[in-house]
Amino acid sequence: MQVKTSCFILGAASMIALFSGCRSDVKKKLASPDFSKEAVLDYKAGLRPYRKTGIRLESESYQDKLIIHDYGHGGSGISLSWGSARRSLQVLEEELSKRPPNKEEEIAVLGAGVIGLTTVHLLLEKGWKVHVYASDFPPNTTSNLAPGIWNRVLVESDHMKKILRDSYTDFKALAENKSPRFKGVTPLKIYTFKKIKNSTMAAMPSGTIPKGIPLKATFENGMHKKGMFFHSFLIDSAVYLEDLFEKAQAQGAEFTRLSLGSKKDLEKLPQKIIFNCTGLGSKALFGDKQLIPIRGHLIYLKPTEGFDSMVAGPLKDDLDLYLIPLQDKIVLGGSYEMDIEELQPDSEICEKILKNARLFFTSDPQAWESKENGDREGT
Ligand SMILES: Cc1cc2nc3c(=O)[nH]c(=O)nc-3n(C[C@H](O)[C@H](O)[C@H](O)COP(=O)(O)OP(=O)(O)OC[C@H]3O[C@@H](n4cnc5c(N)ncnc54)[C@H](O)[C@@H]3O)c2cc1C
Repeated sequence: MQVKTSCFILGAASMIALFSGCRSDVKKKLASPDFSKEAVLDYKAGLRPYRKTGIRLESESYQDKLIIHDYGHGGSGISLSWGSARRSLQVLEEELSKRPPNKEEEIAVLGAGVIGLTTVHLLLEKGWKVHVYASDFPPNTTSNLAPGIWNRVLVESDHMKKILRDSYTDFKALAENKSPRFKGVTPLKIYTFKKIKNSTMAAMPSGTIPKGIPLKATFENGMHKKGMFFHSFLIDSAVYLEDLFEKAQAQGAEFTRLSLGSKKDLEKLPQKIIFNCTGLGSKALFGDKQLIPIRGHLIYLKPTEGFDSMVAGPLKDDLDLYLIPLQDKIVLGGSYEMDIEELQPDSEICEKILKNARLFFTSDPQAWESKENGDREGT
C-alpha cells in the first residue's frame, strides 16, 4: 500500500515502470559484503570542508580584484556542485550588471576540485576565457576521494533548497542521458536503516529525490530489519572528476599548478575576476575561522556479487555505517572526526568501522538503539 502511495504522483506509464521497480526493490534480498581481513583492499582518510555558518557564497572586493567565494560544502560538495556553481555565476552577473561586461577578459578559478571544475564548465559555456590555478589536480583532490552519493551532509546555505534542486536536475540529466555530457553518474538504490526523523534522505526538499518507501528488508541470511528505500545517484568521483578535468582542458581552459600562501598572493595574478573554490584551503588562504576539517575514514573492500545498492545503518559509538558499491570495490564508511587534519588513516577507527559492519549484517537492530543520534546516510 505504501509503495502505491509513493508512486502515485507520477504519470501512468512511468508509474507502472517505477511501481514494478519499487516492488522488486522492496522485496529484494540484501547481500552481505565480505568483511574479512582478506577482503580489505585499502584504508583512506579525507577531510570534509565544513563551515559552521554554511557555504560561503558571496563576492568580496580586494584591491582591484573581484573575488567570488564558493567553498565550505562539508560532506556534500559533489552533490551540491552544480547548484552551488550556478549560484556563484549569478553572483558574478549581479556584479557585472554594475559595469559593462568584457568577455575578452580572462577569469581566474582557484581550485580544481569538483567546485572549481564545475564553475569552469559553466564559465566556458557562457563564453568566458578561464585560467585555473591549483596546488593539486584530479586525481589528488578531496573531491576524488568522496564516494559520491547524491545527498546533503554537514552543510548549510541560505540558498540550500535552490542549490539542491538545481544540482539534482543536473545530475538527473547526467544519469538518465545515454550519452551524457560527463561520465560517471548512475542511478543508485539506497536501503537505509536509520531513524527516519533524522534521515537526510527523508528530509530532501520537493523537486529532488522521490519520497522514501518504508520496508521490512530481508537479508540473504534470513534476518529482517525495518528501513526505508530511496532512489538517488552515485557520482563515481574518480571517473567524473577526470572527465570534468579533461573536457575543461579540451575546451580551452588553462591550468597552472600554483600554491597560494595568502590572500596577498592574489595580487600577483593578472586576472581581475577570481572565483575562489579552494575548499578547506580557504581556511589558511582567507583566514576563515568558520572553516574546520571533519575527517572521515573509508575502507575499500573487494566487490561482492549481488551487492549493488547502498546500505546505510544507524550510528554506533559515534561511527557511521554506509556501504557503497563502486565498479571495482565496495566503499565502507565512516567516521565524522571534528577538527582533525591528520590524513594517515587510524587503524583503530578502521577496525571499529569493520566491527560495526560485521555486527550489523548479523544481528538485530536493537544492538544500535542505545547510542543512535544525529543520523545521516553517509558520507
Ligand atoms: C570521507 C569523505 C566522504 C565524502 N563523501 C561524499 C559524498 O558521498 N558525496 C558528496 O557529495 N560529497 C562527499 N564528500 C564531500 C566532498 O568531498 C567535498 O565537499 C568536496 O570535495 C569539496 O570540493 P571542493 O572543490 O570545494 O574542494 P577540494 O576537492 O578539496 O578542491 C580544492 C581545490 O583547491 C586547491 N587549493 C586549496 N588550497 C589552495 C591554495 N592555497 N592554493 C592553490 N590551490 C589550493 C586544491 O589543490 C584543490 O584543487 C566526502 C568527503 C569526505 C572526506
